[in-house]
Amino acid sequence: MIPSVDYLRSAGLVDDPAALGHALTQIRIIDATGRLIRAPETLFDAAEAGMAAFGWNFANTKLMERFHAVGSALPNLETRNAGVTDLSGTTVTLTDGSRLSAPLIVGADGKKSLIRGATDLRAKETAFTQAALVCDLDLGRPIGGTSIEFHYPQGPFTLVPAGANRANLVWIDDRAVLDAARAGSAETLAATLLERSQRLFGAITLASPAFVFPLSTLSVDSAGADGVVLVGEAAHAFPPIGAQGLNLGLRDVADLAASLAATDRGASDWAVQVSRDYAARRASDLARTGTVVDTLFRSLLAEMIPAQALRAGGLWALKLAPALRRQAFAVGMGRR
Ligand SMILES: Cc1cc2nc3c(=O)[nH]c(=O)nc-3n(C[C@H](O)[C@H](O)[C@H](O)COP(=O)(O)OP(=O)(O)OC[C@H]3O[C@@H](n4cnc5c(N)ncnc54)[C@H](O)[C@@H]3O)c2cc1C
Repeated sequence: MIPSVDYLRSAGLVDDPAALGHALTQIRIIDATGRLIRAPETLFDAAEAGMAAFGWNFANTKLMERFHAVGSALPNLETRNAGVTDLSGTTVTLTDGSRLSAPLIVGADGKKSLIRGATDLRAKETAFTQAALVCDLDLGRPIGGTSIEFHYPQGPFTLVPAGANRANLVWIDDRAVLDAARAGSAETLAATLLERSQRLFGAITLASPAFVFPLSTLSVDSAGADGVVLVGEAAHAFPPIGAQGLNLGLRDVADLAASLAATDRGASDWAVQVSRDYAARRASDLARTGTVVDTLFRSLLAEMIPAQALRAGGLWALKLAPALRRQAFAVGMGRR
């Protein structure tokens, strides 16, 4: 999303976004639930909000290559190719047996964070029966800069523009359905995806292997204390809808940098102060984004007629009221 891209640019991590990815200029939502009360087809256009794009679709590999290139040029950064096996106080033990101590520990070790587990920072995780199947597709007809979301009863089927005829698929459904789809041949999976895409984009061929990720929501009571802070999925996770996960992680990093800049590092307890200040800065954004994504996801799955009516009514309101639509853009992009 654009605020994250702006941050990456200001931090020197991205020069020209076009060199790394593809602009996301429109989002088209198609209600494919077949329910009694359905939402209207809705198109959100970045131009309407006076922007060239809502955001950019960066491939992880390209972003990581770029981060490594920038990191390797930093004179005061040392990296070790080893895992952490233990955290005790502010001393970590690595897989090569070495031990390292630092006043401030940043846990950026994902959903199953060992760093989090070794502290009093408590996490709450709720697993869904749904999972996400991801792969790259080549389509018969290009989708330009438009992200297409088909909303099915078990979750969205989303095609994200990845340049020319390429799209990245994120298909959320019951785990058993996805495992069965992935277990067959590439041709059978392509035929299933063709049906799901309602044949709107012509023939579909797989351009990568498919992977299935289990889904859950994870939240922490506090993202930092006693000289330890958590960033990224170590502190928050939710289903991949609305492209919020990495964006929220980047806002963690921006706030951590702000906490460090605002703290007097001459003080003996500066790291404890940073962890406390960071936790306070992150609290409302983590709570708000987690709630918005969780509510959106559950509203998609809701079997109750009143909930379906509310969701359909909400999309009608967004379709018809430009002011509301602009507010939704701001929430979706994580503007603060
Ligand atoms: C299907 C899917 C689609 C998504 N799409 C989007 C999207 O479009 N936009 C978006 O913003 N987000 C998206 N997300 C979310 C995004 O992928 C995550 O928010 C992001 O990857 C989290 O990054 P992270 O670095 O916090 O965690 P991770 O990516 O999990 O990285 C954690 C790292 O820590 C390392 N590690 C773990 N334990 C240890 C240890 N003990 N010692 C040393 N290292 C360790 C791991 O090897 C890993 O490299 C998606 C997620 C999924 C599943």
